[in-house]
Amino acid sequence: MHKVKIISKKYLTRDILEIRTEKPYNFKFIPGHSIMISINNPSFTSPSLIKRPYNFTSLNDDSYLEFIIKLYRERNGLSTQFEKLNIGEMLILEEMFGSHRYVGPGIFIAGGVGIAPFIAIFRQLKKDNAIEGNTLLFSSKTSKDIILEKELKELLGENCIFTLTKENNSNRRIDKLFLIEKVSNFNQHFYICGPDSFARDIKQMISEIKKEREQFDWFIN
Ligand SMILES: Cc1cc2nc3c(=O)[nH]c(=O)nc-3n(C[C@H](O)[C@H](O)[C@H](O)COP(=O)(O)OP(=O)(O)OC[C@H]3O[C@@H](n4cnc5c(N)ncnc54)[C@H](O)[C@@H]3O)c2cc1C
Repeated sequence: MHKVKIISKKYLTRDILEIRTEKPYNFKFIPGHSIMISINNPSFTSPSLIKRPYNFTSLNDDSYLEFIIKLYRERNGLSTQFEKLNIGEMLILEEMFGSHRYVGPGIFIAGGVGIAPFIAIFRQLKKDNAIEGNTLLFSSKTSKDIILEKELKELLGENCIFTLTKENNSNRRIDKLFLIEKVSNFNQHFYICGPDSFARDIKQMISEIKKEREQFDWFIN
């Protein structure tokens, strides 16, 4: 268990907060992994005493730890408590665990704050000069909600594909047609992160596409 001081706090979008904390001595993690966070402040009422998992978005070589946190202002949960915290206040970090781990080039599909585990992975790949061969399909509500748009474009170039679901005129959800259009090879790694229903639907669509292609191959052979 580590108690770490908040050293910076800034909004990346209207409901996404980037929080940086001090890094404990010799602290190491795997890009894509998460840790349970709670707030070390007895004056907060009970919901804030809960802990929730958040992904590291910094790298091991950075002198700080970084997290990006979506603020669910309509809920009385932990996320909105972060908005009330000041620089110098303390967080408690415990129980690191693996949610995502890079195992080779592939297609990354993220919905909203589901981009969080992929940020550390992409930053590390860029640093290692190994980002080539990876593609990101990133779904956000509107153009104002795209998290770290500029950096993602710089990291992935033309392999960074954004889609918006609540923007006037140009709405497009990730559906089977979208996947078939954007992904040429379905026999590669797929990394998917977003709300439960988003991740479930996309996995289902990918498995259906693969099955359809197998049947087609069998038919023409
Ligand atoms: C492995 C993993 C990694 C994660 N990484 C990140 C990350 O990097 N960044 C990030 O922002 N999040 C991340 N999350 C999500 C994060 O852990 C929290 O679930 C999220 O911040 C919401 O927590 P909360 O306490 O604010 O709200 P919740 O605990 O989800 O909700 C608080 C209360 O609101 C009510 N509620 C729940 N759902 C709704 C709803 N849809 N509408 C209205 N009320 C509702 C419930 O009664 C609940 O008691 C991750 C989750 C996992 C599993």
